[in-house]
Parts: sequence; structure tokens; C-alpha cells
Amino acid sequence: MKRIGIIQILQETNCFNPVLTVRGDFENFGVGTGREVLTQYGEVGEIGGFIEGLKTWSEPVEPVGVLRLQAWSGGPAAQDTMDWFLAMLTEQLGKAGRLDGLLIALHGAMMGADEPDMEGWLLEKIRGLVGPDLPVVASLDLHAYITGRMVRCASAMVAYLTFPHMDQRETGVRAANVLRRIFAGARPVSSLVRLPMITGGELQSTFVPPLAPIFQRLEEAEHRKEVLSAAILMTQAYLDVPKLGWAVLIVTDNRPELGSQLADGFAAQCWPIREQLMMQFLEAPACLDRALACQGQPAVIADGADATNSGGGGDSVHLLREMIGRSIPGGALTIMVDPQAVAHAHGAGAGGAFAFAVGGKRDHVFSQPLKIEGKVGSLHEKAGYLLTGHGGNNLKIDMGRAAVVQVADVTLLLVERPGPGSTPLMYRCVGLEPKDFKIVIVKSPQGFRAEFGPFAADIILSDCPGCASSRFASLPYRKINRPLWPLDQIGDWREVAWIRQN
Ligand SMILES: [Zn+2]
Repeated sequence: MKRIGIIQILQETNCFNPVLTVRGDFENFGVGTGREVLTQYGEVGEIGGFIEGLKTWSEPVEPVGVLRLQAWSGGPAAQDTMDWFLAMLTEQLGKAGRLDGLLIALHGAMMGADEPDMEGWLLEKIRGLVGPDLPVVASLDLHAYITGRMVRCASAMVAYLTFPHMDQRETGVRAANVLRRIFAGARPVSSLVRLPMITGGELQSTFVPPLAPIFQRLEEAEHRKEVLSAAILMTQAYLDVPKLGWAVLIVTDNRPELGSQLADGFAAQCWPIREQLMMQFLEAPACLDRALACQGQPAVIADGADATNSGGGGDSVHLLREMIGRSIPGGALTIMVDPQAVAHAHGAGAGGAFAFAVGGKRDHVFSQPLKIEGKVGSLHEKAGYLLTGHGGNNLKIDMGRAAVVQVADVTLLLVERPGPGSTPLMYRCVGLEPKDFKIVIVKSPQGFRAEFGPFAADIILSDCPGCASSRFASLPYRKINRPLWPLDQIGDWREVAWIRQN
């Protein structure tokens, strides 16, 4: 019976977030080793999909839990965290015994403090541990930053087909199918075409034009019998790394010409729509004007630049300052990651006075702490819930302790740790209902549309300073290759030399 190892090492990095991601951030999400990967995380995200996929094989197959490490989006992983990854991989792959193949759930846009290509590094280390011949299929987020090292070290890679990301589990199933086809004799060959462009998440929905028809054709391409996987990687734009940009990856069954032709064709479909993916920039005062003028409620304002879903700090003060200075009949609801402010509120007690400088501590580059005066509402020992939807499937979220503070017309939820900024559950888990407010802030550029979209009276994309801003010229890029649109104007994208480098 074939024994298939299952690994997940997943985090999305924003390299402009000054707070490093450390071992404790992974431990907060739960570390799984050996059998625990199956017993505790066997229904979670891509791992659930891997196991479901393996069950459909005609021959019996044994899933073997190896390692599961996940952390929420944030700054780069510290060096000793990378050392820990390697020690855990070495130990757990050693304990797993004989394996016939590996399924690995990655994000694709994780960085180390000194490692621009974490997934390439991980795949290289894994390849070193399991040898050159073991079939290794990896799954990726469609915001992966794809490198030549990743392509070389994995046998094949598959990626999400949706944004908001609703197909983690299905992607796991697709990865297991690719592995099955490799055992049946398929010889995976990857064709990669890069595009010299980055775009913000705000208008990257795969469910509406202009991207919806392209992703539909991409899915059809994957269903061709010569094709193992088809991916458009819109990349995480907040990485200061060489060869940053969109990419198309087609994996064929030993049909490199067809792979190149398909990859080039999809790249050619993506390039002309780039202007349509540019958001209209609306600064905080204009966002508030529009939200207050909106019929019905809630008006949902997306703070994409501080999005915890994009690795932002989640502690921007720009919209908060604007809201505190306004009269907001119906009230506003917002969230902030600030463990010191949570401690201060718990010290003051429910009903106590709250005078404290909040925010601007994690992302201290684009925000500075804002002194506010208000009153402590409810206090919570744990702000947690189970996420199924954009960003997770049966994923346990724990934002630590929480406090609700009332400042002028603003209800401010303070939490200790970042979590998804895209789901109403971030508020509902402490008894706050977004529908009860005139204005609700989300810390997500796009994913929030999945759950807020159905009841939002208006959706407003804000342009505030932050380390996940779509105003790319505001970010301190130094290592990216140029030209890169929209930082540079480009005539014929195929003439850009760096996109052809490996
Ligand atoms: Zn993503």
C-alpha cells in the first residue's frame, strides 16, 4: 500500500510589516506532528482536501501525518523560526518511515528575515531529506510568489482558483489527483511565464469580470487531459524580492510546448486588464462622507492598507482618528490589534475609564499611537471562532484576550493577536453584530466581500497609509526588478528582460 506523507507549512508574509513572525505565532495556531496532523487537522483546509482526494484513489493508500505548522499573515519569519522548521521537518520526516509521495500545503509568499524565497528553501530542504525521485506535489495560494527553485524542487504545484479564497479544500483534492496521475505514469513538466506587473487585492475578485472569464478558461485548461495543473498567481505584492510579479504556471504531462503556449496565452489575457484592477483611491475623510451618506447600513469600509489578511499590522489609526472626529448616528465598529491596550482595558475593568494611546505600535512606520479617551465596555478572555470561508476551512482562530471600548460614536474592538480581518465572526465572537452599525471597518482588501457583501449597504475601498497599501509608490521597495507596472510604464511586456530569468 502506498504511504503518502502530509505536510503543511503555511504563512503569508508582508515584508513591510516590521513585526517578525516567530515560533509562538505558529504555536498559537496549533502545531501538529505525526498522527496529530490527521486526527486534529484532518478536516482543516488543504489537509482535509489531501485526505479526501487520497480516498478516491482506486488502490488503497495510507495518508501519513508528518507536520502541520500555520500562522496568520504578518511579517517575515525570524531566523530561529526557520531553524525550527528545518529541525521539525528533519525529525518528523525521519519518524514517518518509508514514504511513496508527499503532499505539501504551502502559501507560496512566505519570507524569512534573510530569505526572500521561503517556499523554495523549504522545498529544497524537503527534497534533500526525501531524495530526488520521490513525487512531491505542493498546493499554493494564488498570491504565491513563484521561483525557479520552487519549480525545480517540487514535482508539480497546484494553486487556488478563487479569490476570495473559497477552495482550499478543493485545491487539496486537486493536488492529490495530480499525485495520483504521477503514479499512473504522468511526467510533470512545468511552464512558467512571468508578467512585469503587480496589483492590489481590492479588485482581484475571480468571481466577477474582468478576471472571472479568464479563471473560467484556466479551469477548463486544467481539465484537458494533457494538463496536470493550471495556475494564475497574482502574487503577494508586499514582498520586496527579485522578480516580483504575476505569473502563470502550467504543468503538463510532458508537453512543454503546449505548456508554454497555454502559459503565454493566459499571460497575454492578464496583461491588458491591469488598468481595470486599479482601485480608485479614496482617502479617509472622503470614505466617511460616502459612508454617512449611504442609504441603509452597514457601509463597509475596507482598510486594505492595514489588512491583517495581507500581512498588515492591524493597528492603523487613520480611519479611527477620522471616525472619532465625526458624528456618526448609528455608530461605527472597528477592530485593532494592540495587546497593551487590551491589558490596559482589562486593568481598568468593565465600565471603567479608558485613556490610552492605541495602535501605531506594530506597523509603526505608517501609523503612530493615537491617544483616545473613552469607556471600557465588555471584556473577553478569548476572542476565537472556527473559520470556514475566505482564508480558512474549519480553521481555529484565536485572537487572544479582547476588550470593547466606546470612544465617541466608535465601538473599538481591541484584540491581542491578528486574525482574519475579513469575516463578521471577528466581531460576532465577542457579541458585536456588524449589521447593528452604520459603519463597519474590515481589515481586508477583497476577501471580506464573501461574507460582508450579501448584507453591506455600500462597500468603500479606503486609501490610507499602511504596509499593504495599493499605492505601491508609497512603499520602500529596493530589491524588485524594474520595470514593474504600475511603478513604471511598460510598452511591450514581452520585451522586459527580467521576466525571462529563471
Ligand atoms: Zn491569497
